[in-house]
Amino acid sequence: MHYCSTRGENRLYSAAEVILMGLAPDGGLFVPADPLPPVVLEELINKTYLERAAAIIHPFLEEFSAAEIKLFLQKAYSDENFTDPAIAPLHRLTDRLFSLELWHGPTCAFKDLALQFLPHLMRGAAARTKEGFTTVILTATSGDTGKAALEGFCNVPGTEVIVFYPHEGISEIQRQQMVTQKGSNLHVAAVRGNFDHAQAGVKALLADRALKEKLARRGFKFSSANSINWGRLLPQFVYYFSAYLDLRRTGALRPGEKVNFVVPTGNFGNILAGFYACQMGLPVNRLICAANRNHVLTDFIKEGLYNRNRPFYRTISPSMDILVSSNLERLLFELDGRNPARVRTWMQLLQESGSYRVDRDLRQAIAGIFWSGYAGDDETLATIREVYLRHRYLLDPHTAVGKAVYEKYRAATGDLTKTIITATANPFKFAESVAGALLPHEQTAGRSAFELLPLLAESTGLKIPAPLLNLDRRPLRHPTVIEESEIQASLLDFLGIDKSGLE
Ligand SMILES: *Cc1c(COP(=O)(O)O)cnc(C)c1O
Repeated sequence: MHYCSTRGENRLYSAAEVILMGLAPDGGLFVPADPLPPVVLEELINKTYLERAAAIIHPFLEEFSAAEIKLFLQKAYSDENFTDPAIAPLHRLTDRLFSLELWHGPTCAFKDLALQFLPHLMRGAAARTKEGFTTVILTATSGDTGKAALEGFCNVPGTEVIVFYPHEGISEIQRQQMVTQKGSNLHVAAVRGNFDHAQAGVKALLADRALKEKLARRGFKFSSANSINWGRLLPQFVYYFSAYLDLRRTGALRPGEKVNFVVPTGNFGNILAGFYACQMGLPVNRLICAANRNHVLTDFIKEGLYNRNRPFYRTISPSMDILVSSNLERLLFELDGRNPARVRTWMQLLQESGSYRVDRDLRQAIAGIFWSGYAGDDETLATIREVYLRHRYLLDPHTAVGKAVYEKYRAATGDLTKTIITATANPFKFAESVAGALLPHEQTAGRSAFELLPLLAESTGLKIPAPLLNLDRRPLRHPTVIEESEIQASLLDFLGIDKSGLE
């Protein structure tokens, strides 16, 4: 498989280059340049998650041998890393509705599915290019990517990881997970502002040629652990297939029967993986893009106008508090006849005026696959409560947004297609909101997330996930707080580079 940029610089790249670079030199995102490899579903029905993963992923990574890919997968999805042997198990809510639990990894969110695998791939890719560079993995996080990247790359030789998170935009547990992280190659800073500021800062660093040349002279090369990196998306194709195959195996789906997926969406990475899975032959009826009060994507999917000129709201689903969804660029490229000139125009408009509009044909192409809706915080809390009372099943706020939007979809369309909600986080990770939804106010008022964890465990009979135990007692290792304008200085500082020495 060769790759190219969505912004059309006339060059092809290998998988190893794409994974190491993260972002294309022209500022675009890497996408496959060759036809997508088809997946023979019938052959995978009785296979394990790892076997399915190898079959689906390998054609995208042809420079790697089958044995290497298998080894990477075994390490990534080991028993130590994932508490459920199925890796991404399905939980049946009704005959028509299933929750795909993507939160059994070490940081309790779906990002682990990709970020436990990516470090192995990056090391393999670095060994292939034989350049001997230290890879600097730059990461902007809305809360979950940062911790998953720190965990995945902890003490991985040849890498330095730098995570920027919004100072006030994440949950108490998410923050504590990051600021207490151990590992000699890991650096974390809070940036004043929201996720979009952190992401814009990181993308600017990745696109800064002069800075890159200077760092290269000191033996450093940038990459990214955000879903702008193709290596983040690739492992995510697998669970879309695997969920479908599990339903085929149990007989819940007939051959040829289609499914819907509901995806709580922020940066459009997870749902884009679902889109690519469809393009590779997964029988999908609709991909339902669920948003919170920051519903820029819902408006775009419904009206064809992407407009980030609007208030930014902090919600109880912080990992979806995003106004600039980077991966949408890949979808536009794929559905608009792979026309890089048009993508460049839109991205320039977005950069300069904060909005762009697509034509009717593209809007219809999008509407042929996607449906979108949004749910506010009150609806989200009510959904957590309802689902718990009706099904004795606990949803985190992001997944609850998905469930609330699914109900709107059902009401709007009457569609009875069997549906899988991607459950993106363990409910304990957002204990404040979840306990608030379930328990009387007197019990939860004034308590920290860490006090609420045991309360939530006791009242539901569920166990606090091991990675969240005693989190509040671990020493603070990453106290840095910076302004957006200090992102570059902070990077140099973390890498031990004297700023004046760079000139
Ligand atoms: C990252 C994240 C999302 C959003 O996923 P995208 O790939 O950014 O669209 C949703 N829920 C949770 C819990 C997350 O961590």
